Amino acid sequence: MADGNRDTRRRFGRRSRSRPASVRQGEPGTDDSPDRQQPLVAMPEMTCSICGKQIFDLSSALAGKDGGSPVHFDCALAQIAEGEHLEAGEKIAYIGRGAFAVVEYRDKSMTAFTVKRRIQWEKEGEKYDWRKSIQQRFGL
Ligand SMILES: [Zn+2]
Repeated sequence: MADGNRDTRRRFGRRSRSRPASVRQGEPGTDDSPDRQQPLVAMPEMTCSICGKQIFDLSSALAGKDGGSPVHFDCALAQIAEGEHLEAGEKIAYIGRGAFAVVEYRDKSMTAFTVKRRIQWEKEGEKYDWRKSIQQRFGL
């Protein structure tokens, strides 16, 4: 009985370094990474298909135009802005569900705006594998 207690305490003290057995094993490269701050859930490594850099925050990423692999939110926004001719007072805003809109603010406080046109970025209703996997990891 005393043995059991000691064992528990020892494992408790090491818990920040040891991986629980339930975590998926055999992911390449996870063990030689330096001791930087690890996110609570391990994310699959994803690269933005617009800028080619790694996407660290998949939960804010959007699906890219080609094939649906994820892109940075900012990269998608920049690409949309390139293709849009914005008048003075117009701005591109994310309106949810994979869609942006060109909006015109009615005053300087930027609280009231009109949606001038909607820009569908992600295919509506499309389920992306990389998003499914993070939703599962977060239990959504
Ligand atoms: Zn990017």
